[in-house]
Amino acid sequence: MADQIVQVSESTSSAAMELIGFQRGLEKLDYLGVKVGLIATDRSPSIKKLMKSEKYHGVLHEFDAWHVGKNVKKKLLAEGIKASNRPLQPWIKAINNHLYWSCEMSAGDPEKCVNQWKSLVHHICGVHRWEEGNVEHTCQHREYTAEEQRKKKWLTTDSSAFRVVQSIVLDPNILRDIKQMSHFKHTGSLEVFHSTMLKYTPKRIHFFYDSMLARTMLAVIDHNLNVGREKGTTKTGKEKLKIQFSKASHRYVVKYQFEDTQQLPFRLELLDRVKELSKEEPLVRQEEMGKKKFPRGNIAKEPRPDLDVLMSQVSHRFSHQKK
Ligand SMILES: [Zn+2]
Repeated sequence: MADQIVQVSESTSSAAMELIGFQRGLEKLDYLGVKVGLIATDRSPSIKKLMKSEKYHGVLHEFDAWHVGKNVKKKLLAEGIKASNRPLQPWIKAINNHLYWSCEMSAGDPEKCVNQWKSLVHHICGVHRWEEGNVEHTCQHREYTAEEQRKKKWLTTDSSAFRVVQSIVLDPNILRDIKQMSHFKHTGSLEVFHSTMLKYTPKRIHFFYDSMLARTMLAVIDHNLNVGREKGTTKTGKEKLKIQFSKASHRYVVKYQFEDTQQLPFRLELLDRVKELSKEEPLVRQEEMGKKKFPRGNIAKEPRPDLDVLMSQVSHRFSHQKK
């Protein structure tokens, strides 16, 4: 998928560019004979629409749970700072965990996923057994002791904090999205790839198409060789840990430290291959390649004006400012 490069000049916005890249990626997979059964993305409206089209009928489209969770958390944090909603604050982390748990436990059953998620509005009030449509439902956790039940800071159904939780949990948009999260897929490794990509193609530098293509390929090689690294261990064989400040929770958290990424071996191998190839056939000079295959595109949508015309407009503007 990553070998599809879309140029800014091909589209009107970054969202449109994303859609073009996405479609090209799928077409490439189809061309390669890869049968796509499920695809997980964020909730981009244009991709949602595309995946509903006849062309992709039969391909399951799922949303990344982390993106949805982030959105729910943002809403809860915004409401939780209001004085009347303060009882909500200790529940925010648990609500987010409940979202992931609902997706994970539903094992591909969309209705089950929605029902697990909705059970939150009962549990949060300390109710673990309830009836809905003449069917009795229960929470999936173990039974609490009387002491635990007494100590938990349950919300009351007449509180403002509860109404906030209820409106977020039962929001028709989220219920619709959750139906597409029952396989608990996530796009986390894509986020990791994006950060590797940024090292090879920093946004502040303009690259021509050929070098963008080569740099993207390098990022793909780097990512594929380093993805799924083992957890690092200390000399005494214990798992290496690190303390990190979490922007999401605004506190320090302990994380596993993974083994360092390796770039040198594949880069040396590439250099050796280039040396070998250079013996076999003459290398194409980069300028020639640029001229022949990848003429410099202009990202402007209008034709380039004449310099004299442009200068006359500039001097007109300057004389206007002086007055
Ligand atoms: Zn419960």
